[in-house]
Amino acid sequence: MAKVAFIGLGNMGGPMAANLLKAGHEVTVFDLVSELVQELAEQGAKTADSALAATAGAEFVMTMLPAGRHVEMVYLGDSGLLACLEGSPLIIDSSTIDAQTAKKVASAASEQGLDMIDAPVSGGVAAAKAGTLSFMCGGTEKAFNRAKPVLADMGKNLFHAGPAGAGQTAKICNNMLLSVLMTGTAEALQLGVDNGLDPKVLSNIMLASSGKNWALEMYNPYPGVMDTVPSSHQYQPGFMVDLMVKDLGLAMSAALESSSAVPMGSAARNLYMAHKKKGHGRLDFSSILQALK
Ligand code: NAD
Repeated sequence: MAKVAFIGLGNMGGPMAANLLKAGHEVTVFDLVSELVQELAEQGAKTADSALAATAGAEFVMTMLPAGRHVEMVYLGDSGLLACLEGSPLIIDSSTIDAQTAKKVASAASEQGLDMIDAPVSGGVAAAKAGTLSFMCGGTEKAFNRAKPVLADMGKNLFHAGPAGAGQTAKICNNMLLSVLMTGTAEALQLGVDNGLDPKVLSNIMLASSGKNWALEMYNPYPGVMDTVPSSHQYQPGFMVDLMVKDLGLAMSAALESSSAVPMGSAARNLYMAHKKKGHGRLDFSSILQALK
């Protein structure tokens, strides 16, 4: 079992750290919010009063932070972890951030002789709790192989996408496609309902036809079609509109950087941004159907 420092114990990091504890790892945790640290302590974690203190003796340093600026703040600068870490722990950043920042921090780690992978996740809070996340990793093959045993205790699908930053790129490509599938599915269902169709009947027809897709099959956005998904529970998340807007912003930045045409992703981003601005940021992303009613 490994010694792991875990920094960032929010909606995702909390349950991920809990799964490492359940698997028998020695986990030392830190978050700016002391209540979150306390919750993990009650589950058996050691606690620290700073990110650096949490890393003492660690073989793995994991971060699960909101955005790129938080990751830079934790790792870079004179008092950042990279300048102060002892030993040679493997650094695993699972936050969803822009690939440029991921590459910048990985390169700074490499200058200090440290291995680092970007390892953003897909699956959301339910998968974080169940230990069934998908990890999309960027970094060297050697660093990915080193990370695998720890990642396997938090997820069921581990992918090596390519060099540093590739995990982040894979993540935003997937989420941009998801946004297009969800908005398209919502649009088709609403068109059918507006023209007198029952959404369940239409869903069954499309599931057996060429319109079948993940949003329709697993996460139907029309209330009452599937009992267990957010649309049938007042669109309680799930995966919040705010997070989809964030991921689509990262996708648009990447597209600018590479001069890629992303007309569908761009349209989806505009729809989600307008939906957020109407005050629906904390609803599940399938609530985009409401914007099309
Ligand atoms: P969150 O806001 O719930 O948690 C982030 C935590 O980081 C907070 O507890 C915050 O206090 C802590 N933090 C911030 N700066 C810190 C610092 N300097 N030192 C220590 N702790 C610090 O966010 P979340 O929902 O857990 O998401 C984390 C990341 O995972 C984000 O990048 C998000 O985009 C991504 N993600 C989230 C989901 C989801 O469904 N929530 C799904 C996939 C990916």
